[in-house]
Amino acid sequence: MVKSIKDVITLNNGVEIPQHGFGVYLITDEEKAYKAINKALEVGYRAFDTAQFYENEPLLGKILNESSLSRDELFITTKVANYNQGYDSTLSTVEQSLKDLRVDQLDLLLIHWPSKKRFFETWRAMEKLYNEKLVKAIGVSNYEIHHLEELISNSDIKPVIDQVESHPYLIQQELKDYVDKNNIAFQAWSPLGRGAVLKDPIIKIIAEQHNKSIAQVIIRWHLQKGNIVIPKSITPSRIEENADVYDFALTEEEMKIIDALNRAERTGDDPDSIYFQM
Ligand code: NAD
Repeated sequence: MVKSIKDVITLNNGVEIPQHGFGVYLITDEEKAYKAINKALEVGYRAFDTAQFYENEPLLGKILNESSLSRDELFITTKVANYNQGYDSTLSTVEQSLKDLRVDQLDLLLIHWPSKKRFFETWRAMEKLYNEKLVKAIGVSNYEIHHLEELISNSDIKPVIDQVESHPYLIQQELKDYVDKNNIAFQAWSPLGRGAVLKDPIIKIIAEQHNKSIAQVIIRWHLQKGNIVIPKSITPSRIEENADVYDFALTEEEMKIIDALNRAERTGDDPDSIYFQM
């Protein structure tokens, strides 16, 4: 049951993650970041998704540290950048991420993209960080089924999450079925399709019927599907709008109508094309 922005999903190692978090990709301007992140906190967001690649870990760390919330009320995710993959570089750069984010322990650490050359090296380093309790949970991002199979069958620890591009134009049903079956949570990046889905005429009709915006309907659709979502905006009114999705529900019929919009259309890179280059 989707009830509030405080709802959590229990990961396969028992750690709880808010189902509805806030993405901070491209939020690097200090003034805008303060406004956006403080607005997100004000409207109830407690989970923040950053990455070494986003180059805003120090800024996010500073803003969250200055907030009135205690560390255990927040859920912070970061990701090992492609250029930092490898055993030693994962260990040393995650140590830097912890310093930059001003925390002793990360809630969730992900591998940003699958790497062919350093596939296991990076994961072994993450298993060490997990065993040393420097991270509460470890997972992956942009892993296809074959990447997950390779990882699971050759590792001690199973990833808790696969964070992948997903929105009504790219549902990734086969991958979702696979992770569901393997008790790995499905987290949707670019949940609004980076704006692409926001003009969809069919979702517009559904949105009008509920007196909600298209963005709100898409976020609600993700939540009702059980996806973890991390929409991003730097505009305070949109941040508020994106959090205000708990006073209506989509019917089964409406969920099916939105599911039928899938056209396997990516806005970002295909993991298999980037995979072979690293
Ligand atoms: P998104 O789908 O969240 O779309 C964001 C864009 O949609 C905004 O820039 C804004 O222009 C628009 N928008 C947001 N709310 C709106 C509203 N209410 N009305 C109208 N327009 C609105 O896309 P994203 O930023 O790419 O993804 C969200 C987060 O996912 C990122 O911040 C990041 O944390 C994560 N991400 C991860 C990966 C990965 O490889 N793991 C890749 C991309 C993004």
